[in-house]
Order: sequence, then structure tokens, then C-alpha cells
Amino acid sequence: MKIRILASLAVCLVMVSSTAGESDATTRVKPTLVRVGRILDVKSGQYLFNQAILIEGGIVRKIGPIDTFQSGGSENPVVIDLSNATILPGLIDCHAHLLDAMDPTINGADELTLTITKFAPTKRVLLGAAMAREDLEGGFTTVRVLGHSGIDGDVSLRDAIRNGWVPGPRIVASARKITPYGGQAQVIPLQSGVAQTILDQEYLPVSNPDEGRRAVLENLLVRADLIKVVVDEWPRVLDEDTMKTIVAEAHRVGVRVAAHATSRLGIQVAIDAGVDSIEHADEATAQQFQAMRDKGIYLVPTLWPRDMLVVARSTTNPLPGTRPDPEATKDQIVAEQRAKLDLARKAGVKMAFGSDDWYAWPDKTRGQATRRLLEALQTFGMPPMEALRSATVNAAEVLNVRHLLGSLEPGKYADLIALEGDPLTSLSDLEKVRFVMKGGVVVRDDFHPSHP
Ligand SMILES: [Zn+2]
Repeated sequence: MKIRILASLAVCLVMVSSTAGESDATTRVKPTLVRVGRILDVKSGQYLFNQAILIEGGIVRKIGPIDTFQSGGSENPVVIDLSNATILPGLIDCHAHLLDAMDPTINGADELTLTITKFAPTKRVLLGAAMAREDLEGGFTTVRVLGHSGIDGDVSLRDAIRNGWVPGPRIVASARKITPYGGQAQVIPLQSGVAQTILDQEYLPVSNPDEGRRAVLENLLVRADLIKVVVDEWPRVLDEDTMKTIVAEAHRVGVRVAAHATSRLGIQVAIDAGVDSIEHADEATAQQFQAMRDKGIYLVPTLWPRDMLVVARSTTNPLPGTRPDPEATKDQIVAEQRAKLDLARKAGVKMAFGSDDWYAWPDKTRGQATRRLLEALQTFGMPPMEALRSATVNAAEVLNVRHLLGSLEPGKYADLIALEGDPLTSLSDLEKVRFVMKGGVVVRDDFHPSHP
């Protein structure tokens, strides 16, 4: 009995820490009063002017007009003056691959094979630590890592950040992708004698419901926070029974399922299985987007602007003959992405931002590249406020942490960014992020360079 009580206590502690997860640095930090020029209320879509935020123990305790803070309250808080800046909640990326930083000039399939074979899992975690710091400094205070993490490196990185060993965003980790037989190996012509060893580093391939259930349990065993399923790697598409089993096994213990699906068949299997988010959904029909809306399934559209396709996709597109001209290919991809977004917005499906970035950009940090991918939503026709919601409140809902993150309100984590300019007019002002705070701890402060 005692063992059972201890075991259930341990489970409770793990669940609390997996959502809350604060480092010692947060609990040690002094009460802080942030004076603010204007805050974007992401729920109402309005700016609130001349505000202040009182933060204690990494949590927002009070937020409101500055003059209501002038008497009483916490004794001698540290004051941070951001009265010339625009404040937003910390940004959230729902589709990250922090443990990969591929050379965008090499064919993507070959580069992935090289990453797996040349990088020990331990080295990938250290790479992930570098990407995590860059993402955090860029304004992303929470990211959902959806695979390509070298078995369970994202779980280790999550814990290291939570323990305060390395700086980085809060991580929601999926460990290995569950995939159709062979993993996402169609574009990776692996030598059969070594293929399985390589694939095992990256995927949990399944071909029936029992294997699907087992794969979920393997990921839960390494303490993944959610399950990532690749429904289709055309022409291999997980069958409905296997998908339903995977979703049921995860949902049975309160774990969410993110599904990569690009084909109409794969998207339909994901919808029918009742996943929580569909990533990409490139060939979705209006009816499928409506079905996603009706079932409350989020779309994470992973849109890429043309100038980043130049480097990333022209060399990796595996369809020689069908799209021979790189410039025409880019035009076609941009047009397809725009049409997809239009269809999704008309259907009213809820959307969350996901970068799907896994490149080492020569001229950008990971955080800068991720921000560019968020800014690009405006160029595809999404109004700035909608894009910012997709990377804050909506993203927090996808991650099942809306009570803790996604907006600045009493009781939520003090995750915020400050920038120059007006992102409601132009999302490109996100490039002017000058200040980042996570859990009440200042990560970056270009406004006050001498700040500790
Ligand atoms: Zn991805």
C-alpha cells in the first residue's frame, strides 16, 4: 500500500512538474515590478496603455494601470522600466525540431542520414541546447518538439532546462515519431544492411494496432509529454484501426496526439481517429477543414515564405521531373500554401503556429529564423493579430497549458517579450525583440545592457 501511495505521489509530482516545471532560478528571483508602455491583450486584440505587472515566484500576481500599484503591494520589488516598449506574452512554437540543425544546401534526406550517423544522441542534445538558447533569446519561451531528437534527447533537454542546467524555452517533448513501417525513409535510400539501426534512432515504426499501442507506451516510458504520429509517408499510410488505437492509448492517460498528415487519405485517417492537432494538412479539402473545426482539431499549417524556400526546398524537393525549375517550384509551393491557408480560414478551423524549422541558417539564429516563419503568416494573408494569437493563446491551448501560458494574467507564468514598434501593424516588428523574460527571470535585456 505504501508503495502504491508513493508511486501515485510520484506520478502527481511528475505531472505537476511536466506542466509547471520551474527551475531554482525562478523560485529564487526577487519580486519584480515591470512598468510597461503598452501590453497587447491577446484575448481582446487591444493594447492596454501605462500598465504594470507585479511578478512573484515567477508568476504574474497583478497586472493593471500603473497608478494602482503606487501604494501597498509587495515590499521593495525590483523595478524594470519597459515604458517605451510594446509587451507581448512569450511566443510559443508548436512544431520545433531543436535537436537538428541541417545544412540547407545539402539534400535534406542525405543530411538527415548524416545527422543520425555522425551525431551521437548525446551530441544532438548539446546541439539542441544551443538551438534552445537561440530560440529563447529570439522570444520563444515555450516550444513543442515533434521529433528528430535522437531517441529521447528532447526529453533530456526539457529536464536540463527545467533544472536550470542550460538556458532554453519550456519544452513539451514527443520523443520518437511513431510512423508507418520503414519510418520516413522513402526519400532516404538506406542500405538495407544498416537501415534498421539508423531508423531506430529516429522512429518507432508500426504496422498494426498492437505495435501502435506498444510504441505509445515506449514513448511514455521515456516520459514524453505527447505523442507525434506520422500518419502518411506516401504511399504508406497508417490504417484507421492502428491510428485509433494510438490515440485511445494516449488519451486514456491524458496525453495529446499531434499527427503529421499531408495527403487527403492521411488527413481523413487523422480526423477519424480524433487526434488533437494535424501538422501540415497540405491536401486538406474544405470538408476536411470543416470536420477539424467541428471536432476541435487544431491545424498547425507550417507555412514557409518564398525567400526561405530558396535555400531550404529547392535542393531537397524529391520530385525531379514534376517540378524541374526551382523558381517555378517555389512559386507553386507558395501558391499552394496560400490556398491552403485561405481554405482553412474560411472553414474557421483553429490554428496554432509551428515553424517546422530544422535548418542551420548561415545568417540567422534559430530564434531569428523561427520569428521569420511567424512573420511570414502575414504575407500569406493572415492578419497580424490572428498570427499572434496562433503563437500565444491558441498555441497554449494546443499544448494543454492555457491555464499557465499564452497570455499575461494573474496566476500565469511571467513569460513575456518586449519590442520596439507595433506588431499589430506589421508583424516584421517582431524582429525588434529587445527583451525576453521567462518565469520572471530576465533572459535578455537590450534596453538596459547593464541588467544582470
Ligand atoms: Zn516537422
